[in-house]
Amino acid sequence: MKSRDRVLAALHAEHYDRVPVGPFIGYRAAEAVGISLRDYYTNGKNIARAQYALQQEVGHDIMITAADTYYISEAFGMKTRHYENALPTALPLFSELKETRSLKVPDPEHDGRMPVYLEAADEMKRLVGDDICIRGTGTGPFSLAAYLFGEAKFLMMLADFESGNSSAEEEKLLHTLLEITSDTTIAFLKAQIDRGVDLIYMGDSFASAEMISPDYYRKYAFPYHKKVFDTMFPICRERGAFTLLHICGDNRSVLRDFQAAGVDIIEIDQKVDIGFARTLLGPEANLIGNLDPSQTLLRGTPDEVYSRSREVIQKGVSVDEGAGAGHFILGSGCFVPTGTPVENLKQMVRASRDLGNGFQVSGQAHGIT
Ligand SMILES: [Zn+2]
Repeated sequence: MKSRDRVLAALHAEHYDRVPVGPFIGYRAAEAVGISLRDYYTNGKNIARAQYALQQEVGHDIMITAADTYYISEAFGMKTRHYENALPTALPLFSELKETRSLKVPDPEHDGRMPVYLEAADEMKRLVGDDICIRGTGTGPFSLAAYLFGEAKFLMMLADFESGNSSAEEEKLLHTLLEITSDTTIAFLKAQIDRGVDLIYMGDSFASAEMISPDYYRKYAFPYHKKVFDTMFPICRERGAFTLLHICGDNRSVLRDFQAAGVDIIEIDQKVDIGFARTLLGPEANLIGNLDPSQTLLRGTPDEVYSRSREVIQKGVSVDEGAGAGHFILGSGCFVPTGTPVENLKQMVRASRDLGNGFQVSGQAHGIT
C-alpha cells in the first residue's frame, strides 16, 4: 500500500495494512543530506531533497515542509537573524497596539520566507507525486500576533486587558490584529493546498495551556482557530486534504476546545497520555502522536522506541465499531530533534508493521487487516 493512501485510509477509517507513521520531522532532516540548518530553512528544494532522503532511509509515511518559526513574521517586516547551524531568531516589530494599524495581510507567494516553504511543497510533490503523504507548515494567528510584540510583552498586554487596564479602542485593535493574522494564516494554507499538500498544518504553540489560561484561549485564540478551520474545511473536503493542529504542552484542559474549533486532526504532545486523549476526544477523533522526541526518540534505545511505539499505537488507534477502526497516526509529541538516530525512527515503522497483524482480529469487523 502506498504511504499516502495508507494515511488517508487511516483518517477515513477505511481498509489499510498498518498504522501510518509520521513523526514531526522538520530541521532534523537537514543532516540526512549533510547541509547546514541555514541552507535548509532558506531553500525549499533543499527541504524537499532532505525530507525525501530521510524518508527513503526510514520508510515513514509523511514528509513535512516545516523547519522554523519566523518565515511568516518576516513577511510583516520583522527582522530576523539567520545562523549557519541554528534556527532564526527575531526582534519584535511593535511595542504598542496602535502601531499595528498599518499592518496588511502579506502575499504568501512573494513575502517573507513563505515562498521557500511553498517551493518545498512544489518540489516534494514533484519528487513523490501521490506516493507519499505531504504535510505542510503554518503558524497560527495567536502566535503570529505574539511574535510581533515579543512573547512576554504580548502576555503582559493580555493581562492588562483582563485587569481592565486598557481602553475599548485597544481591545478593538487587538481583535483587528488577530483577524489580520488569521487571514494571513489562511492565505498561506490556501497556497499550500493549491500545491497538493495533504495535511494542512497549523501550529499555534503560544496558545498552549502552559502559556495562557483556558479562559484566555477561549477569548483570544479559539475564535481565530475556528475562523481558520471553518474557512479551510470546504476547501479541504473538495481536495481530499485534512487540517492538522499542533499546540505544544499539556493541553488536557483545552483539547475539547481544539476539537470544537473544527480541526480534522489533533497532534497530541507527549505530556498527554494518548489513551486519555482518545477517551476524551472520542472514537472518531483523528489523532497523531505522541512519542517523546527527546527522552524516547533522541535518547532512547531502539528497543525502547519499539516498545513505546507499540504501546502508543495500541492506546491511540480507535477500534470502535460505529466509528470504524483507525483514526490514528503514530508520530512524535513535537519536533524531532537534531541528532535523533535513524535507527530509532526506523523502530516506529517496525512497530507499526508488526502490529498490522495485531489488529487483524478486530480488523475483520472494523476494516483493518
Ligand atoms: Zn510542540
